[in-house]
Amino acid sequence: MTFSLPDLPYPANALEPYISAETLGYHHGKHHAAYVDKLNGLLAGSALADQTLEDVIIEAKDDPEHAAIFNNAAQVWNHTFYWNCMTPNGGGRPTGEIGDRIQKEFHGFEGFRSQFAAAATGQFGSGWAWLVLDRGQLKITATSNAWTPVAQGQHALLTCDVWEHAYYLDYQNRRADYVEIFLENLVNWQFVEQQLATAQSRATAA
Ligand code: FE
Repeated sequence: MTFSLPDLPYPANALEPYISAETLGYHHGKHHAAYVDKLNGLLAGSALADQTLEDVIIEAKDDPEHAAIFNNAAQVWNHTFYWNCMTPNGGGRPTGEIGDRIQKEFHGFEGFRSQFAAAATGQFGSGWAWLVLDRGQLKITATSNAWTPVAQGQHALLTCDVWEHAYYLDYQNRRADYVEIFLENLVNWQFVEQQLATAQSRATAA
């Protein structure tokens, strides 16, 4: 099996003025594409070929010989997930079940917001901030480099890419401003709600 670069779920200029078409063009068309190409090259002829992306991540995660496969596979997964976590006219307060649960589990939306922003701005160097469902509970985490909840038995619900390539053209060193804009204007809460429903139905089926 070879993996392919998924299209962005919206035009490259759809998130302007918050994320420029130039940033999305490089981020999706160069960075994400390079992870896909490298992964396909590394998997050719490997014992991990012909598996799903999630299985490649899980199989490769603890094997130092497969570190490059893990990094590229996880980055392919993380980026596809990240594009879906954003939408034009997104952000703000969620409604629905995710809204209720955030209200309860983080002592209100402001509690969620400040914890998520702290995870995103506090991640030293490259990485990702996440809202996950972990054994039935909402949790905020940050991961380093390519590391992903998929490798940790958690269900990802929301992510913010905090590698510099995600924001440097638009915000330079101001990661906190990018994270603030992400929460205020970009989060696709409808997608997050769908991830929560999927995570719960998988947990029930397991
Ligand atoms: Fe990225």
